Amino acid sequence: MIILKGKAASAGIAVAPILAKPDEDDEDRVSLLTSLNPEAELVRFRQAQEKVIAHLGQLAEKTRREIGDEEAGIFETHQMMVQDPDYVDMIETLMLQNHLTAEGAVERAGEQFAAMLESMDDDYMKARATDVRDISSQILKVLMAKNSDWASHLHQPVIICADDLTPSETVQLDKKYIMGFVTSGGSANSHTAILARTMGIPAIVHTDKLIGEDWNGKLAAIDGLTGTVYLDPDEQVLSVMKDKIQAEEEGKENLNAFKGLETVTKSGHRIALYANIGQEGDMPLVLSNDAEGVGLFRSEFLYLRRDDFPTEEELFQAYRAGAEALQGRKMIIRTLDIGADKRVGYFHLPEEENPAMGYRAIRICLRQPEIFNTQLRAILRASAYGNVVVMFPMIISLEEVRAAKKRLNEAKAKLAEEGIRFNPDLEVGIMIETPASAVISDELAQEVDFFSIGTNDLVQYTLAVDRQNAMLEEMAKAGHPAVLRLIRKTIRAGHDAGIWVGICGEAAADPDLIPIFVDMGVDELSMSSSKVLQTRKLIRSLT
Ligand code: PEP
Ligand code: MG
Repeated sequence: MIILKGKAASAGIAVAPILAKPDEDDEDRVSLLTSLNPEAELVRFRQAQEKVIAHLGQLAEKTRREIGDEEAGIFETHQMMVQDPDYVDMIETLMLQNHLTAEGAVERAGEQFAAMLESMDDDYMKARATDVRDISSQILKVLMAKNSDWASHLHQPVIICADDLTPSETVQLDKKYIMGFVTSGGSANSHTAILARTMGIPAIVHTDKLIGEDWNGKLAAIDGLTGTVYLDPDEQVLSVMKDKIQAEEEGKENLNAFKGLETVTKSGHRIALYANIGQEGDMPLVLSNDAEGVGLFRSEFLYLRRDDFPTEEELFQAYRAGAEALQGRKMIIRTLDIGADKRVGYFHLPEEENPAMGYRAIRICLRQPEIFNTQLRAILRASAYGNVVVMFPMIISLEEVRAAKKRLNEAKAKLAEEGIRFNPDLEVGIMIETPASAVISDELAQEVDFFSIGTNDLVQYTLAVDRQNAMLEEMAKAGHPAVLRLIRKTIRAGHDAGIWVGICGEAAADPDLIPIFVDMGVDELSMSSSKVLQTRKLIRSLT
């Protein structure tokens, strides 16, 4: 047995075999030219081919909507070329007869096909050589995609071990079989750790050693409360873990008594107790933990698990499903907070020296109106099916709030013109997660219906402590007097203007801080679903 220590990022116990994220260098092995298993290569090729066809279809649809029919036709032609019988036949022959890997076959067939076209007299056919190279490289890209698929087709429970996981990798994991996360990098305030808490899965970050692929399939036990990883645990550890799991179950049982009760202090101060989610699939946990609504729907996660922009219809369906599941309870959708650590290839975000202070969230939305408009329309349309609320992130100025509201009003006007239903009185709020917004909260309060304080970023920007940096984690405290004063100022400014003020950062579930927030008069707290009942219990014990 080997014992590793790390930082506890999400509570809970898990005992399961290890699945380690493949080493990037190892993945380059896929470019080996020959394979001993041609049938498997054929399957890989066909899967990649299907993905590319679907992707080209989405591009055609988007282009038709945004540019025109003629331009969309290019992608439809490419779709046909990917299925061209001669091209496909050449690839399959190279795999089945010459035993090339799917990558080797696509590369070689693409070149031969392009060369053949180039040698023709017809200018039109000559020009098609570029298209063949283009589609071949798209198939190759799918075949060689790094890390995208390694854990999305699981068949048994596993503990995922990695150097680090990006938020987009984490959302793509097949949740049903993920029992826990262990990373040698990362920090407890990173979005990956937050996602683990949202999913109710134990997680340990920043372990003293990387657990590599040589551990694949071997048993591990992890304790997300103490930050301990036991590799190849002995009988004694397994028995302690079993007891802890049982105690955890009993603890949960006891908390069940708080379901259906009001979240109110002994002295009668009522707090709205909401849950944070990343996708509509998190809703069962919201309901089973009896959250009174969703205080933060991190809508960017719907963008992270894909290869291209979601359509308005796809977003609408996801929001509508969430709103309907909540049956009249509030669902606060935060508009896209992409950027910083939440990066997606198809956004083509620039490389930045300092991405946390860079091109992200509302800054992207205001500069790329078509992306923002698609999301706003989807949110508005979903507002006809439940208590949907919209919230803008990373605000630093009045101008931004006014500009975002203007876009929202334009989207409303357009929907009304098209005769599409939405709630015209939908509540509009902003996140207070920059010191700037807290300092001018009195002015901002005149513009919106509510504030939700994002303590994760407010701590990072107020204390100049990178939330991704595990070395500085001890300094990233929402209880720092500077942060508390900004929170108090924001609550007062909100109340003076007659609007409600909530907290949706991780501090909202901190039992040491909750009494302080309640004393400051906070109206709403929003947190991982798994923290809801224990927080209700705590609040009911306060005077
Ligand atoms: C926050 O900053 O506190 C917040 C809730 O947003 P996120 O953690 O997604 O940045
Ligand atoms: Mg934030």
